[in-house]
Formats: sequence, structure tokens, C-alpha cells
Amino acid sequence: MKIVMLGAPGAGKGTQAAMICDAYKIPHISTGDLFRSNIKNGTELGKKAKAYMDKGELVPDELTIQLLMDRVSKDDCKNGYVLDGFPRTIPQADVLTDALAKIGEKVDFAINVDVPDENIVNRMSGRRTCPKCGASYHVQFMPPKKEGICDVCGAELVQRDDDKPETVKERLRVYHEKTQPLIDYYDRCGVLHTVDGTRSADDVFQEIRGILSK
Ligand code: AMP
Repeated sequence: MKIVMLGAPGAGKGTQAAMICDAYKIPHISTGDLFRSNIKNGTELGKKAKAYMDKGELVPDELTIQLLMDRVSKDDCKNGYVLDGFPRTIPQADVLTDALAKIGEKVDFAINVDVPDENIVNRMSGRRTCPKCGASYHVQFMPPKKEGICDVCGAELVQRDDDKPETVKERLRVYHEKTQPLIDYYDRCGVLHTVDGTRSADDVFQEIRGILSK
């Protein structure tokens, strides 16, 4: 099962991706997390990516595609995976489609988590993430059990630099310009499913479960 998550930054696609992966026991592949881990480890790729990420821009396709292709070629991806934050441009989607076609496969589901722009800034200003394990929370909609502390690993939660309001506006602009066209792209492929992402994470997940079980 190969699943692509679509939706604006802060729509909750990472949360849904994590819930799907937990239920179906397939890996959760987030290019954002892969970049952040490269930044943390001080790699050359991390240094290059950081310059774009800090401004709310996309990392160039050639760097992103290589990173993603290396990851999906690993053994744990044999039974499928959930892509969270990839593809974000038409060229990225084309590379993925072509690479899968070569091995007689395709993206099975593109799940578009739909949240209007006016809700996004509020959602992102309340988002907190765990710098250690990558778990994601929201101070209002999905608070951790103990304020400011990760439920999974106990680390202190932080606000991502690119979740600050100035950067969020730029990320939204980039989303509409570069990533939103992928909704039509996957619709044309016949695999698009749009869910209303303004509901609770559990409600959204129930709907996604129904879609995936068809
Ligand atoms: P995310 O954690 O998915 O919100 O990604 C954080 C940042 O990483 C984005 O704002 C981009 O700068 C970069 N990034 C993640 N995935 C991609 C991608 N597929 N293409 C280009 N840049 C990406």
C-alpha cells in the first residue's frame, strides 16, 4: 500500500500519516523529518536544506528527490509506506510515478487533508513538536498529557522555527503555488480522496480508515 498525504502545512497530514502507519504497520516517511535529522547531524545536505527551510521555501527538487528515492529503496518499504510532505511539486510527483511504474506499481491512495487557510495560521502557531522523536502535538487540539513534554519519549517540546507566523505565511503561499496542483494531478490518476481536516484527529482518521479499507 503506497499512500501520499496531501494538504497545506499544518492541516494535520503528519498526524494522520502517523496514525495510518501505526494501524497498517508501514513506515512513515516525512521528507521534512529527513531534512531535520540531516540538519541535526550537521550533514552537507542538512546545511543546504536549512537555508531554504528557514525561509519557508521548498528545498530544490534535485536534493529532495534523491533523499526520498534512497529512503523508499530500503527494505522496510517493501510492503508500502506513507509519504508525508512528498511530493510537493509536479516534477517530484512525476519522478515518483515513473519510478513506481518501472517496477509495475503506483500510488494507491492520495489523501488530501483539507483545511481552509484561515484555520492554518492558528493551527500552526499552536503546534509543538518533539525534537527527539518527531512526535507532533497542538496546545489546543492535541495537547500532550503533561504540558510541554512529549508523551512518547519525555523530551521537552519545542516550536519549530518555520512554524512562526512570518514563515507560515510564506509556506502557505508556496503551498498554493507549487503543491496544490498535485490535488488535480492525483485526481487525474484516479486515486484522490479528500477529507475534511477541520474535525478532530480521531474523526478524520476514521474516515481515512474507511477509504483505505475499500
Ligand atoms: P514539513 O515538515 O513537511 O512541513 O517540511 C518542512 C520543510 O522542509 C518545508 O517547508 C520545506 O522547506 C522542506 N521540505 C520538506 N519536504 C519537501 C519536499 N518534498 N520538497 C521540497 N522541500 C521540502
